[in-house]
Amino acid sequence: MAETSAPPVPSDHIMGVYARAPLAFERGEGARLYTTDGEAYLDCMAGIAVTALGHSHPKLVQAVKDQAEKLWHTSNIFCIPNQETLAGLLTAHTFADVCFFTNSGAEAIECAIKTARKYHWAKGAPERIDIIGFDGSFHGRTLAAVNASGNTSYLEGFGPPMPGFVHAQFGDVEALRALVGSTTAAIILEPVQGEGGARSWPDADLRAIRQLCDQTGTLLIYDEIQCGLGRTGKLFAYEWADAPPDIMAVAKALGGGFPVGACLATIEAASGMTPGSHGSTYGGNPLAMAVGVASVEELVKPELLAHVREVAGYFNQQLTGLKDRFPDVVVDIRGKGMLIGVKLATPNREFMQHARDQHLLIAGGGDNCVRLLPPLNLTLDEAREAMGLLERACEAAQATVANERVGAA
Ligand SMILES: *Cc1c(COP(=O)(O)O)cnc(C)c1O
Repeated sequence: MAETSAPPVPSDHIMGVYARAPLAFERGEGARLYTTDGEAYLDCMAGIAVTALGHSHPKLVQAVKDQAEKLWHTSNIFCIPNQETLAGLLTAHTFADVCFFTNSGAEAIECAIKTARKYHWAKGAPERIDIIGFDGSFHGRTLAAVNASGNTSYLEGFGPPMPGFVHAQFGDVEALRALVGSTTAAIILEPVQGEGGARSWPDADLRAIRQLCDQTGTLLIYDEIQCGLGRTGKLFAYEWADAPPDIMAVAKALGGGFPVGACLATIEAASGMTPGSHGSTYGGNPLAMAVGVASVEELVKPELLAHVREVAGYFNQQLTGLKDRFPDVVVDIRGKGMLIGVKLATPNREFMQHARDQHLLIAGGGDNCVRLLPPLNLTLDEAREAMGLLERACEAAQATVANERVGAA
């Protein structure tokens, strides 16, 4: 049909907050997305680490269908049996004792921050309100989340910075030690930064921060919304360092594309969260929980996590080769597992277009990175295909560098 092959036109009626690529998809299967006119793309961004089991995973599709025919929504004033099931799964596999379910990552962060402050308040230390966050972090777009991350471009124009948020340098544990004081409630960090450009905290730093928190009665909050649920090749990234948090925000892969998040905590850290202190209309509703249970049952499988480590190892080796062959384009490979950052010498937005020209979808990232966030069940053959397409994108980027040199000469 001729009219569907034209690039989608930006809408007049959608708030203009996104710089969108002129592509629209109609259908997905595994790591493939198909446009309205039937063009196939290899999806190595997975809705920003959301569709971790690929598109249209049969088990998730069945879970939605079955639940959709039974019951969508009640209210949190009633018991929701699948909340127990999902919380049981999440707590059995983590440091946590309790969960609060949300509809998004940012809401899980809100709950984490409120839980930390309420803990100190309930312990008789209401002055302990400060949340220490790090440069390059991303915790979502609610006011508290943007204040926690401190990213000035996300704060600008939205009024004065909120009190109770302090910022530290990524990787500088000594400076962090000096910042922790009598008004500190919690430290919040992503064990592997996502939007910031796939920067991984060294294991030794996470252990040092855990110890600092223990010594000062500070709560440690991890944001594993992007790096959690198998993305790094362990169920949660903190397992690599063996430095568990007190509170953790999870979302993205939790619903595999259905909006659901969770705030996990130890029973001690959650001790201030009593009836009436927090809530959500939709959070943890029966439809979301049915998908969450199906998704987590798959994500905890040891063979899936082993597969992530294997394919991630392949990517890492191949990308290192790409960096050697295209030194004018690729300057660094970073991240952990299948949260892969490729730092570029050429503009990352342009590179994403070169990749799209090859029908490969990748995500952007801070520090002029692009990120590869493929579905965790991407096959080795698909990984090989992705590397071939990336190589061609590098050739195209290399050609623009060469052209600019000719132009400048
Ligand atoms: C995506 C993301 C968020 C925000 O999640 P939303 O569902 O968009 O609110 C927070 N933290 C990290 C690390 C993320 O990657």
